[in-house]
Amino acid sequence: KKVEYILDVPVDRISLTDILSDVPVYLENNDKMLLTSVNPQIVLMADKDTQVKEYIKTSTHRFPDGIGLVKVSKLTDGDIHERVAGIDVMTALLEYANQSGLAIFLYGAKPEVVEKAAVNISKRYPRLRIAGTQDGYTAVSDEALIAQINRSGAHMLFVALGSPKQELWLAQHYQQLDCCIYQTVGGSFDVLSG
Ligand code: UDP
Repeated sequence: KKVEYILDVPVDRISLTDILSDVPVYLENNDKMLLTSVNPQIVLMADKDTQVKEYIKTSTHRFPDGIGLVKVSKLTDGDIHERVAGIDVMTALLEYANQSGLAIFLYGAKPEVVEKAAVNISKRYPRLRIAGTQDGYTAVSDEALIAQINRSGAHMLFVALGSPKQELWLAQHYQQLDCCIYQTVGGSFDVLSG
């Protein structure tokens, strides 16, 4: 797997197909798959905040989310030509969960948004299980939320708190979580709630 560094932030030269072929491997080995969107904004945030940078470095899959990264790669003689949109990764994971009857947990966005996203997802992907949801505004202790997610039996956790909140939350807590697949998804719940 080829890695490029932009301001010391790693970006993997991977496609959606590469990501998808790794999913069953991580599930089978019960390893944590940390999927992170890399875009120019997060690169600048990582440049100012070492915790954000460390989380991206720890992530197993850092994909170039958006044309901005492709352009920067070209300007720096890099080899990243293909963008991978976060919403496409999430959609592909939902399809996989549907085919395999897996459980997902949605954390983040406004209460009505995450609820509507969950309703739409269960209509579109009837064979996956929505293990639980938690909006990103109601005050809830991290301890209680982690316990709730772990009790839920979710295989996949999608975190939509915006950057860098979502990256920092996962950086601090993924080791205590029992899910296998983690993705920071920005505004994707808003898209799916529409
Ligand atoms: N969000 C949240 N809690 C917060 C801040 C943001 O749940 O404290 C949610 C927001 O409602 C939206 C998502 O995070 O659903 C992404 O927000 P934004 O579009 O600002 O982030 P980006 O996609 O630009 O990373």
